[in-house]
Amino acid sequence: MSDSSFFVIAVDGPAGTGKSTVTKRLAKALQLVHVDTGALYRAVAFLCFEAGFDLKFTPTQESAITEIAKMARIAFKNVPDRNPSSRVYVNDRDITALIRTPEMSLMASRVSAIPHVRAALLDLQRRLGKSQPSILEGRDIGTVIFPEATLKFFLTASLEERAKRRLAELEAQGGDVPTFEELKQQIADRDHSDSHRDTAPLKKAVDAIEIDTSHLNLEQVVAQMLDQIRQRTERE
Ligand code: C5P
Repeated sequence: MSDSSFFVIAVDGPAGTGKSTVTKRLAKALQLVHVDTGALYRAVAFLCFEAGFDLKFTPTQESAITEIAKMARIAFKNVPDRNPSSRVYVNDRDITALIRTPEMSLMASRVSAIPHVRAALLDLQRRLGKSQPSILEGRDIGTVIFPEATLKFFLTASLEERAKRRLAELEAQGGDVPTFEELKQQIADRDHSDSHRDTAPLKKAVDAIEIDTSHLNLEQVVAQMLDQIRQRTERE
């Protein structure tokens, strides 16, 4: 039975394509709930580091990591006077700033390749998306989480451009910043493992609209996406 209140926009693509910024803008413009699904994997990565795992965890440690993912109470909360206003909590702790480091990115990519970890986070993503009209960003939203999404986008950009954007982001955050070449290598490694894992690899859904953002600014990407969303909703 189709649910007439169901409205989900899926935005997938590799790191540094601008997914977070454009999905937040679209959420604001269209009054949608914004769900950053990468933050869920980052929250699990955070708990793994806290539990003493490092990037070299072995296959025999995967069941302990799966337990961590199953037990984690992850929540998004809006705190209007904080920047950013949408905060990520795990077990009642605000981890918003702590999960944005290059190490967390790499650990998130490692834990996200464990099929049972993905399964542990699946229901939460579906519940969040179905609770209200939503826009979800990630790697497998259009292929696995919501294959029935109202509209799907797949954002791409050259590796060079994505590394440039990530570097600017990290510099704005302050703290230790890798060199451009290090960052480029880290993103290339993450692309490789996200696209080659057995479960829910990063790939474009056949019915997704692909936008190469390499030579577009934020406003241009948002305008293209808004245009597509309006065309779709006018047709229905
Ligand atoms: O989007 P973000 O860079 O925060 O994601 C961190 C990592 O989480 C990705 O590199 C990917 O391995 C994983 N991820 C995933 N599926 C999603 C979202 C993120 O596997 N839907």
